[in-house]
Amino acid sequence: MSFFENFKNFKNKLDKIESTVYGKQSLLEVYERNAKLEAEIVKRTNELDRANKQMLTLQHIWDMMNSSKPLSSVLNAIVNSIQGELGYLYSFIVKQNTDSEGKFLQVVASSRDDLGVRFSNYFKCDVSEYKMCFPDFEELKNAVKDNKIYQSPDLVRLINGFIPNLDVEKLKTFLKEAKMKSYILVPLRSKQKHFGSLIVFSSRETISINELNFLNLFAKQIELAITIADLFQAVKEQAITDSMTGLYNRRYFEEFIKKEAIRANRQGQKFTVIGLDLDHLKQINDVYGHNYGDIAIKAIADVLKSNARSIDIAARMGGEEFNLILPGVDSQGGAIAAERIRKAIESVELEKIEHVTASIGVATYLEHSDDIDELLELTDQAMYESKRNGRNRVTIAKVANETSWQELAVNTFIDILSKHRIPLDESTSQLLSEKLKEKSNDKLYQVADSLVETYNPEHKDGVVKQKVEIASILAKRFDLPKDAIDKLKIAILLYDIGNTMLPKELLLKKEPLNDEDKLSIKQHPLIAAREILEPISNIVDIIPIIEKHHENWDGSGYPNNLAGNNIPIESQIILILDSYFALLERRPYREAKSQDEAILVIEAGIDSKWSERLAREFISIVKENAG
Ligand code: GH3
Ligand code: MG
Repeated sequence: MSFFENFKNFKNKLDKIESTVYGKQSLLEVYERNAKLEAEIVKRTNELDRANKQMLTLQHIWDMMNSSKPLSSVLNAIVNSIQGELGYLYSFIVKQNTDSEGKFLQVVASSRDDLGVRFSNYFKCDVSEYKMCFPDFEELKNAVKDNKIYQSPDLVRLINGFIPNLDVEKLKTFLKEAKMKSYILVPLRSKQKHFGSLIVFSSRETISINELNFLNLFAKQIELAITIADLFQAVKEQAITDSMTGLYNRRYFEEFIKKEAIRANRQGQKFTVIGLDLDHLKQINDVYGHNYGDIAIKAIADVLKSNARSIDIAARMGGEEFNLILPGVDSQGGAIAAERIRKAIESVELEKIEHVTASIGVATYLEHSDDIDELLELTDQAMYESKRNGRNRVTIAKVANETSWQELAVNTFIDILSKHRIPLDESTSQLLSEKLKEKSNDKLYQVADSLVETYNPEHKDGVVKQKVEIASILAKRFDLPKDAIDKLKIAILLYDIGNTMLPKELLLKKEPLNDEDKLSIKQHPLIAAREILEPISNIVDIIPIIEKHHENWDGSGYPNNLAGNNIPIESQIILILDSYFALLERRPYREAKSQDEAILVIEAGIDSKWSERLAREFISIVKENAG
């Protein structure tokens, strides 16, 4: 090998060694850089993941709000989302409420596990219904005042503070079995005010700093949900359109028609209301499914939109019921417009359903009536006339020239008061008579409410009107003709008037009632009602309705053990209304029931107190009115 070759070899080796050393060095740098980057990425990913989870929760909340679920479902979802997260055994949110008896705490959301149920069973007390106290100890009160998280292992003290008089030994056993070691109370605020608290039962005795931070963040999320729910509710209340069809909603319609009536009065210009109800929607729902029912409703809305002039107002009143206001249009013009709409609906072609039809009623302001309530009532009656005559048709309202039911009711009350048929003191009697002279519907209901209040201190103003309205819808569903519905409405105002005649000593009696007393309380009002009402010739035919309103469907009622359809449907309607509204009132032996609880009782009475059909129709009306 030549010197040069040797030298080249040596140089090559040197280069190789050099490059590996340098290579190793740069590799080390790369490695270090990568490791740093990796840590950074993990950190960022975790942050992103957290942010994402929060976004998802928010998205979830938002979706739920859009589906108009109440705040409690949002809170339930949130509470469930931390359940099990940090060894939490049970979490719930309490809200601070106030009623006539003072402040109390109410559980508005709780985690979905069986601990709550076990607790309720173990102590025979339904926590979800219970009005809880705020535990009376300083540390907890201060935590709420300062809006600071409070943690303590003294679970017995907390739970006994919420629900006094629990058996302490039993409670200790329960907590031990459930492996609960401590509780954490997180105060919640909404609109700068104390809203309530999140309470979590933990399987650990202490709380770490990280956990504290987590819970603080979590509380913010709950507060955000409450704020959004409040905002959403406010926006919903301000809305003037129906989200499903884009037509105006009932609220807007009611505002509009009032203004339109004022304008009509001032300018002497009529307007017409077209009332429209989709035919056989129930059948469409049953046969093709609810989605197709919705399609049918939207199809009607589209026809109304394309047939309305720019000054007309088309509204969805709820369900499958629509109203149109045609300003400046008399009944003749209204009839033409209604017929055009009917034909347009009939000719729409829909997938699967093929065709839908609607029944229509038409009434004109200043022609059929100069009172809005009455006008809408007449529109409704005309619409039902269309249904009765075979559907898919237009009926023009008839001018109410016979005495209206309200007038008859006012005259009946005036008669009762002026002839002192019931024991009322002179000044009350005078006051009520004065009100009646104004001949307005509102005053009529006020007087009816006042009379009920003389023997039922729990009665709330407005209930008589609600009863009349529900009775009227129910009666229509049972195809009662107008004059029968009118009589039923008067019967609703008067069915318990006999109670004014119950001997005071019986009502005030402190000892338990004996059988004779009970019989008297049962029978006396019915006898008294006949005595009070019989001399008033115009309403004699409502007396039998009143006398039979305590008869039960299975024949177990009184006074005559009538059963099934031997009981007039009007009396059946009064019984179910009377029972339902009584459940919503407090009694000496029980609390007032909520609407849901009252509905359960109505369901429990099916086949014994009332027929299944009546109960189902009644419940659907009550639910619609509430929603
Ligand atoms: P009629 O011709 O006598 O009006 O019969 P109908 O079946 O249309 O009337 P009914 O009042 O007996 O039933 C109305 C049904 O409409 C019951 C209710 O479930 C349904 N409904 C109400 N609102 C909606 C809705 O928004 N979508 C759907 N799909 N159905 C609805
Ligand atoms: Mg219908």
